[in-house]
Amino acid sequence: MAAEGSDRRLMKLVKTRIVATLGPASESPEVLKQLVLEGVDVFRLNFAHGSHAWLTELVRKIRQVSAELDRPVGLLGDLSGPKIRLGELAGGETYCQEGALFRFIRGTESVSSSDLTCTYEPLIDDVRPGDRILLADGTVAMQVVDRDPAAGWVQCQVVQAGKIRSRQGVNLPGVALSTPSVTDKDRHDLEWALQQNLDFIGLSFVRRADDIRQLQQLIQSLKPRFTPLVVAKIEKTEAIDDLDNILAVTDAVMVARGDLGVEAEISRVPVLQKLIIRRCNQLRIPVITATQMLDSMQSNDLPTRAEVTDVANAVLDGTDAVMLSGETAIGQNPVQCVRMMEKIAREAEVLVQPQVPQEASEQESRRARPITEAVTRGAVAAADFLKADLIVVATVTGRTALALSRMRGKVPIVAFTDREEVSRRMCLYWGVTPQLNRSVAQSPDSLLKHVIAWGRRNGILESGSRVILVGHAAWLGETHDLMMVHVVP
Ligand code: PEP
Repeated sequence: MAAEGSDRRLMKLVKTRIVATLGPASESPEVLKQLVLEGVDVFRLNFAHGSHAWLTELVRKIRQVSAELDRPVGLLGDLSGPKIRLGELAGGETYCQEGALFRFIRGTESVSSSDLTCTYEPLIDDVRPGDRILLADGTVAMQVVDRDPAAGWVQCQVVQAGKIRSRQGVNLPGVALSTPSVTDKDRHDLEWALQQNLDFIGLSFVRRADDIRQLQQLIQSLKPRFTPLVVAKIEKTEAIDDLDNILAVTDAVMVARGDLGVEAEISRVPVLQKLIIRRCNQLRIPVITATQMLDSMQSNDLPTRAEVTDVANAVLDGTDAVMLSGETAIGQNPVQCVRMMEKIAREAEVLVQPQVPQEASEQESRRARPITEAVTRGAVAAADFLKADLIVVATVTGRTALALSRMRGKVPIVAFTDREEVSRRMCLYWGVTPQLNRSVAQSPDSLLKHVIAWGRRNGILESGSRVILVGHAAWLGETHDLMMVHVVP
């Protein structure tokens, strides 16, 4: 039976998860509520913008909306990493003519119109003649022609003309930066994020596996109440070169196509996206595809055909989540964007094929323990074969739900847990509707009773509906793992 007419607050129809970036367009409780009702699973707090006071208020409002709707909502704190920005330009903006010479100097304010500053002073020490410096989202390119670090300058020639503005991003593709990947600002933001009990911590401009290890060590040293999952943002070519090592340590990945399209050739982005997603799928690592997915909807009611196709293709590539950035942070139509994204993902999911990932070795792939693996494979196969209405899982850590999710079965999964943090973490798992319930998962019988009453009440289940119940050892006691087929009387 279709759950089409059911209460959307309780049962998610779309399996692909939706991440929405917050900003002035989405900060009001009314908009936040609408965004959750339309399908947002995880909100992204971008530390590049907004004070801690503003973000604290935002977290409070989200938690309130989540409680009101009885729906877990994940929170992702996105650390800026060694993001480099231009300093203040004399006059706020400058046109860079092809062939013109500019100098990067130390400090934060340019005095002459041909002098540039940036937030990363060691740029003067790190670049060499021949290196490229990209500005304004890669639309303006300069080449280093001379340098004198002792005197504090680097001279560059414009090779691709265009306008630059104060505080725009600076990219140094291929330049080995001497800066640590977790900056002082990141550490400060991380402390705040852990106090707020955020569920996911993203790190920008990851270069190598060590960056992720450092962040994880830092998190541990700050002794959080609950350890958040780390999301490695893949946006540098160095990270592509070290991808397997990064994937061996990170909890989740974001294909950060904005900076990736500047750091790597923009024409490589689609192929890199597919390769990263494929590898994440093999290793069972949740992956988010991000940036410009419905960009034109920032000012239009409808997306372009190309954007719609992009979202659908990311789903078909195997992404777990799709992300909205400016669309929900500063756009005119944040709620319509989420509604559109949900619609596109639902259409595309019809073509998503069940997966039993076998390409990666046992050690490489994050398989659950063998019994959980066997039970969850059986559950998904049985659910698809029997055209069941629901897979219900009781989970303590979320691992069984993740194992079920990775197989990309056709049948929706509802995951019950009594741990709030686990319910929020599962918001990133493809095909899983998390349910926080402190009492129902005591035994298979009590869970089944609860699920049937809940399913009937919300038009998800009726007499004859088939429910597959899965439980794992930590739930049932050391010696039991269970996969049960139940026909609703
Ligand atoms: C990106 O570069 O695609 C990205 C997601 O990062 P940010 O939005 O922080 O620039």
